[in-house]
Amino acid sequence: MVYNIKVFGIVQGVGFRPFIDRLAATFNINGTVANKGSYVEIFAQGSDYAVQNFCDAITKNPPPRSTILDINISKTSMTDDFNDFQIIESEHETGNIFVSPDIAICDLCKTELFDKNNRRYLHPFINCTACGPRLTILKNMPYDRERTSMNKFPMCNDCSEEYFNPNSRRYDAQPVCCNECGPEVYILDGNERGAEAIKRVRRVIKDGGIAAIKGIGGFHIACDSTNFETVNRLRKLKHRPQKPFAVMIKERQLINNAHSTIYKFIDNHQKQILLIDKSWTIKVAENVAPYNHKLGVMLPYTPLHLLIFNYPDDIVDFPKVLIMTSGNISGSPIVITDDEARRDLSKICDVILSNNRDILIRADDSVIDFINDEPYMIRRSRGYAPLPILIRNEKLGMRNYDSVLAIGGELKNTFCLSKGDLFYLSPYIGDMTSLQSFDILKSSINRMSDLVEIKPQVIACDLHPRYQTTKIAEIIASELDVSLIKVQHHYAHVLSCMAENNFTDKVIGVAFDGTGYGTDGTIWGGEFLVSDLNGFERAASIAPFIQAGGDKSSVEGWRIAIAIILDAFKDVDTTKKIINELNIIDEDKITGQLFLLQNNINCIKSTSAGRLFDAVSAILGLCSVSTFEGEAAMKLQFAAESFKTSSNRNCDYPLNKLFNNQILCFNDLISRRLSGDSVNQLAYEFHIGLADYIVNTCIKIRSRNNISTVALTGGVFQNSLLLSLTADNLKSYGFNVLCHKLIPANDGGLCLGQAVAANGIN
Ligand SMILES: [Zn+2]
Ligand SMILES: [Zn+2]
Repeated sequence: MVYNIKVFGIVQGVGFRPFIDRLAATFNINGTVANKGSYVEIFAQGSDYAVQNFCDAITKNPPPRSTILDINISKTSMTDDFNDFQIIESEHETGNIFVSPDIAICDLCKTELFDKNNRRYLHPFINCTACGPRLTILKNMPYDRERTSMNKFPMCNDCSEEYFNPNSRRYDAQPVCCNECGPEVYILDGNERGAEAIKRVRRVIKDGGIAAIKGIGGFHIACDSTNFETVNRLRKLKHRPQKPFAVMIKERQLINNAHSTIYKFIDNHQKQILLIDKSWTIKVAENVAPYNHKLGVMLPYTPLHLLIFNYPDDIVDFPKVLIMTSGNISGSPIVITDDEARRDLSKICDVILSNNRDILIRADDSVIDFINDEPYMIRRSRGYAPLPILIRNEKLGMRNYDSVLAIGGELKNTFCLSKGDLFYLSPYIGDMTSLQSFDILKSSINRMSDLVEIKPQVIACDLHPRYQTTKIAEIIASELDVSLIKVQHHYAHVLSCMAENNFTDKVIGVAFDGTGYGTDGTIWGGEFLVSDLNGFERAASIAPFIQAGGDKSSVEGWRIAIAIILDAFKDVDTTKKIINELNIIDEDKITGQLFLLQNNINCIKSTSAGRLFDAVSAILGLCSVSTFEGEAAMKLQFAAESFKTSSNRNCDYPLNKLFNNQILCFNDLISRRLSGDSVNQLAYEFHIGLADYIVNTCIKIRSRNNISTVALTGGVFQNSLLLSLTADNLKSYGFNVLCHKLIPANDGGLCLGQAVAANGIN
């Protein structure tokens, strides 16, 4: 019997065919294996039993850098004519495209890099079939050297020999190169090249300087993370007073291995930034991640990173942990060219280490948290993008349009291109609030469309009339002469969570985040949306409060606090007295804000859960003004967690009164704070109260609409305490709970929901 086996996923350029060849020999199977562009096709001749075992072995233990999304097995009517097993050379076929994400350097290349007798000794661009850049150097498919930014580096004879030899581990490795023929590092606007350039950067970092280093998906800014003064200087230059910096750790052995899941995960081939407890690794300066018990850490993932840490020069005691933060102006997309580096980084950095291999598409580092021992995506980018989400569900994918472009949100932008049942999410682009980011988003969309060969038949974007992303969507829709569909922000969040969980029935979507444009023109952000693929009904929301002071009210939590206190006590003098007693903000600012509120100037109705966290954080004296997005909420969460750890949860929860019949009721919180109750305990009770409120509201909606699945989505659900409290509580009341895993709950996951929404609209 001959079987036809199709393996979908990242199966090209990762040594998949030689792997199949070896397996076939093991299981005594004759036939062929071929790359089909979108999948690998195998014809396998053998007994039912042997073929079954063969397929099991493929899925159970695929090559380390591959990702199998699906495997299809069917019997054929072919006769048993195969006498051996053969690898068939590939031709480009149209169809679904799987572009590999960039892959961290493998162990074999690492060994060669520091082997004096190897011809790639200390070569900053060493790579092989199993590792190296992919997405970021690729112009279009199929994945051949001439279509990558390696095309300007002709292979030397030795490299060429390896490239064409099926027995070499660099067979068909498009970025293959060596010290003879590969790209070169250099100091931007300086004289040093190659080894001298690397030594100079090491010297600068060792001496407390700040360096920019061009990596795989963009420039990083690097410095010694144990040097308080240097970190302080970087904070001033980057206008980033408190937001935590990520660090790169020289080797995994510097992390405590007691938590084995995380210890294993951090060394995967994606090498994302992982949020771990600070105490699990060696001490960094307090100002690297101030007021934060977590630290974002990653391991070196390019040969150049390894050389920076380990270069055999005369520098001793080079730091073991470096700050490694995106090279950009706060919030903007990461810098990728020398010109951009000169413009944006030269004022921050003492030296810039660049190289002449072009980065064709930006790919910031991915960021992952761990919640309940499972990875929880915060930023999906390098190493993960553009691996598509496969939605094998006719209701979700392939409905009215074959291909969709969803532009995504205004902050933490990513976009999504879909074709049939495959949804390709772009790497992280960043905030769309500057003029530059407009061009960057547009060119990234063009590049990705070329790469995955998708011509969208419909465009989706957010409902907000004044977003840059909405403008871009309008421009692209008119250029392509296709229709534009605007999707309500929180509905897109709910659909994104449904899609990730492959769920299509009606859900109670609990979308809690900072801000989104509501269908009534007010600010939404604490929403209960009864949703399915056809639309949503706003079943409930947290009680509205007034956001006064325009954009400032989204970073200055004290402004919301004043509105809430005024609403609770109804009296201006009492409000002033309480704010003074709580020491929330200076006297002169109180009067101005009260004036706005009383005269309805610059006031807008809001149900933003994010702003509610800000207000409580201000009332409890934790944070009145955020210096980065989510700061106030984070401090509130940490305070609550420290109470939970220290108290063993021994408290009654009088703050359940916080949401009385869905009306916000802050009197209790405020008076207990005034009478000196512990801030940490009140922070914890706020979390409990909010989780209870969510569950009670879901119970009411269930009794009305008979829906018992809840989707928890939106940036507020990055709060692991609130997420666990809510999910556990819902489950105990018999709800089926959908959470995010590898698609961010925040606006970085919005584009997937937009794409799913647009796909279903006629
Ligand atoms: Zn390698
Ligand atoms: Zn070479």
